[in-house]
Amino acid sequence: MIPISTLTKLWTAEDFRRAIACLDAKTGLHGADLAIRLTQRRSSLGLYFPSKYLQFSLYFFNDPTFPESAAIDVIRHEYAHLYDDVAQLRRWIPTPASRRHHGPDWKFACEMVGARSERLYDTQAAFPQLTRAQADAMLRAEDVRSLDILEHLRMWDRLPLPEQTEQDLDRRLRQNLPPQQYFRPGDPFLHPQNGFGRVAAVYPDYAGLQHLWLRYDSGKEERQTNRTVVKIQTKP
Ligand SMILES: [Zn+2]
Repeated sequence: MIPISTLTKLWTAEDFRRAIACLDAKTGLHGADLAIRLTQRRSSLGLYFPSKYLQFSLYFFNDPTFPESAAIDVIRHEYAHLYDDVAQLRRWIPTPASRRHHGPDWKFACEMVGARSERLYDTQAAFPQLTRAQADAMLRAEDVRSLDILEHLRMWDRLPLPEQTEQDLDRRLRQNLPPQQYFRPGDPFLHPQNGFGRVAAVYPDYAGLQHLWLRYDSGKEERQTNRTVVKIQTKP
């Protein structure tokens, strides 16, 4: 079998930008607006310089023995630095100063964009040999969860839960809460002080609590919980 890397063409700035734009489409970020710097450095595969550029070493990327899965991982590794920086994940994830670059905040970002959360490229690590179709699907970020991180943090002021946890929690809330205390998007409500409106979005919490994004009839929007508003029953 011919290794896939020998079939790939040489990497151009546009190839990197396209891969980054596909990650942006999933995360809501704007990494593809940054400059792409290509080097021949042997000491580092990639680098994120905050708000300025993403850098990649063609010395590695254009080496026919460098696996495509490793190339994709390096792009995601650097993208996770950007994600961590732009979303300011440290506000939610305590990170000691000594682990400024590859701490738990960055690892959270790795999880969100499907990067291995390893600081260094380990040649011993088993990077799977991808088919062209598999590599293309990953370059299009098809395996990355679609979640606008800045919008999420703005609305909920908390980190996103893993997708499965979120669904499980929501199911438990639906089963355990009285129907008048369980909200779905679109439900009409009354806030005793602030007036009427509709629930725009819902986020589950532990302990029988739902966070609600409220859109008042006045146009005002804010976050409350299912305990502070009254659900208006609509006739069946
Ligand atoms: Zn790094």
